[in-house]
Amino acid sequence: MASSPKDLHFVLFPLMQQGHMIPIIDIAIILAHRNATVTIITTPVNATRFRPAITRATEANLKIQVIELQLRLADVGLPEGCENFDMLPSSDLFGKMYAAMDMLEQPSENVLRRLTPPPSCIISDNQFPWTTDLASRLGIPRFVFHGPGCFTYVCLNIVMNTNILNEIESDSDYFTLPGIPDRIEMTKAQAGGWGKRETKQMEEFFERMETAADAANGIVVNSFEELEPEYVKLLEVAKGKKVWCIGPVSLRNRSFLDLADRGNKAGIDEHECSKWLDMKDPRSVILVCLGSMSSFCNEQMVELGLGLELSNVPFIWCIRSITDETHRWLSGYEERVKDRGLIVRGWAPQALILSHEAIGGFVTHCGWNSTLEGVSAGVPMVTYPQHADQFLNERFLVDVLKTGVSVGMDVPVAVGEQDKFGVMVRKESIKMAVERVMDDEGEGKARRERARELGEMAKRAMTEAGSSYLNTTLMIQDVIEELAKNTKQI
Ligand code: UDP
Repeated sequence: MASSPKDLHFVLFPLMQQGHMIPIIDIAIILAHRNATVTIITTPVNATRFRPAITRATEANLKIQVIELQLRLADVGLPEGCENFDMLPSSDLFGKMYAAMDMLEQPSENVLRRLTPPPSCIISDNQFPWTTDLASRLGIPRFVFHGPGCFTYVCLNIVMNTNILNEIESDSDYFTLPGIPDRIEMTKAQAGGWGKRETKQMEEFFERMETAADAANGIVVNSFEELEPEYVKLLEVAKGKKVWCIGPVSLRNRSFLDLADRGNKAGIDEHECSKWLDMKDPRSVILVCLGSMSSFCNEQMVELGLGLELSNVPFIWCIRSITDETHRWLSGYEERVKDRGLIVRGWAPQALILSHEAIGGFVTHCGWNSTLEGVSAGVPMVTYPQHADQFLNERFLVDVLKTGVSVGMDVPVAVGEQDKFGVMVRKESIKMAVERVMDDEGEGKARRERARELGEMAKRAMTEAGSSYLNTTLMIQDVIEELAKNTKQI
């Protein structure tokens, strides 16, 4: 019978999307550091993306492995190799990816039944609903991992599982979210962005996901209790199960390599990037990085660049996908701002940049990981949400933590829809928000101080005396107890 972490074998199923895969890899390595055996189930293209982190972990004698399964993409009408949500040109195709993911159930079961030592617990993204049944067939617990933090999870629970959105007619009128301690106002379009159920297929998928999450043994959240104590409790009550806040998991990355080589291969030499930052004053530079999924039309990219130029603040601007038009515009722009602006083309070493003392602010699209990474870095943020849960994360930063300044984006833009909308945020708004966040006087100073304190709290939570470390211990203990219960029942 299992009596300590070294007897346990965790099997992790990350969703094939950077914002879900990156924290799950961190969780895998955190668990392996507790002496557990860890297996990550993914597909070949995704395994390639995080192989360096796993290689470093195995070289450090951690018991961690990756098992690759093939998605049956041709069967759902997706091209071969298209194994990550960031490879899909538009959100209309997400349903096909979910259909391909569903077909992983039997191959996963075959793999799990052959694992040695046998699996003791599944931690899987909530977008793998079938893992609840699989865990139950194997007689082990399943913990569900849901991308965002507790505040957003609670709000999503309200908008998805009550009638509130149906009672509001207009997409653009602001309403107050009921049942939570903070006054949060949003539009129906902003609140309903996550879990859009526009087709019968998506409706059924989200229902299965909810049912499976309700039947799971616990919820693993990349957050820390001190950040959102009331919402941790509200989530536990709403879902009637234990919530394990074990983050910010990004803070497990401490070495230069772990920080620099996270997610994809960076589009800049990481040492060059650090050297550039070394030349700048502490807390003087703003990082602009808008996630792994958001896309902007050329006109909006130009407007963003002009806003940064107007602000006169030193910046690192990471541009994930560059069209020919943006590329041509950038050549003149880069020359104009060369004394204070660094452009990263492609993937940014975000965790490395945020860990540098020269960083004093962050323009973020409010994906949950970026939100929490900004909190962990102790910096105030300019909030520039695009879709999904990002408008809720924005409200958390602006209204609850009071470390965010909104850029004024108020209409969600889905993946692939950017050209339809054109410029939505003007350069003057960008300049103003950047200057407010970097301001060192009055309101700006107080905001910076609050952000700094939160950063300290985040770091403490991940130390051996901290709440997230303790929650990881308790979560491991819970698996041992669940397994003991199941053995008795047999
Ligand atoms: N990220 C990065 N470099 C990039 C873009 C993103 O390292 O150029 C990382 C970022 O640090 C975070 C994750 O990718 O850990 C993105 O997750 P998030 O939830 O913030 O947003 P998403 O990309 O899912 O919208």
